[in-house]
Amino acid sequence: MSKGEVIDLHPPLPGLPLSVHIEFRSGGMGKLKRSEPSTRVEATHAQIITVTSAGKEIKEEVELSVVDEYLRKVGEFQGRVAEKRVEHDGRREVTDAHLARRAEVKASFSSPCVRCGVACERGDDRNVVVGGGPDSEMRTSAASGFVSMPTVTYVEYVCPVCGSVEWFRRNHLEHPPPGG
Ligand SMILES: [Zn+2]
Repeated sequence: MSKGEVIDLHPPLPGLPLSVHIEFRSGGMGKLKRSEPSTRVEATHAQIITVTSAGKEIKEEVELSVVDEYLRKVGEFQGRVAEKRVEHDGRREVTDAHLARRAEVKASFSSPCVRCGVACERGDDRNVVVGGGPDSEMRTSAASGFVSMPTVTYVEYVCPVCGSVEWFRRNHLEHPPPGG
């Protein structure tokens, strides 16, 4: 039905919506409702339909300058995400060397207290609420309305003498279960 030009944007997008659909339209912006789908060149305004992370659809009519500004932000945002992926892949490349070393560490694992020299004991696992990176935003659960807090689980070792604590990330070394 629509002969107009549209742009469909997919994640990752700023604000983390599920999708953004932009339709270019001409004539009758606002209350007149007489606008028609149009090419981007002939457009007088645009309609943006955003499906939020909570699954809510938001329609808004905007000036073309708003579309340009938004597309610029999307480009920047996706560029930053891509850069992070490259960084992440870079980190992954050293993993082979780390894996070899990890096998050695695993074979002779010990967790002596740096102060007392005695072996630390396996404590409980700790779920720690963490902040994300500078671009991460809090997400609200559609079902509960609660803001979800990202957590990381750390494996805890405690010195039985001085009580100092050492934490390990999971999925690196194998640890006995808490209390084990
Ligand atoms: Zn100690």
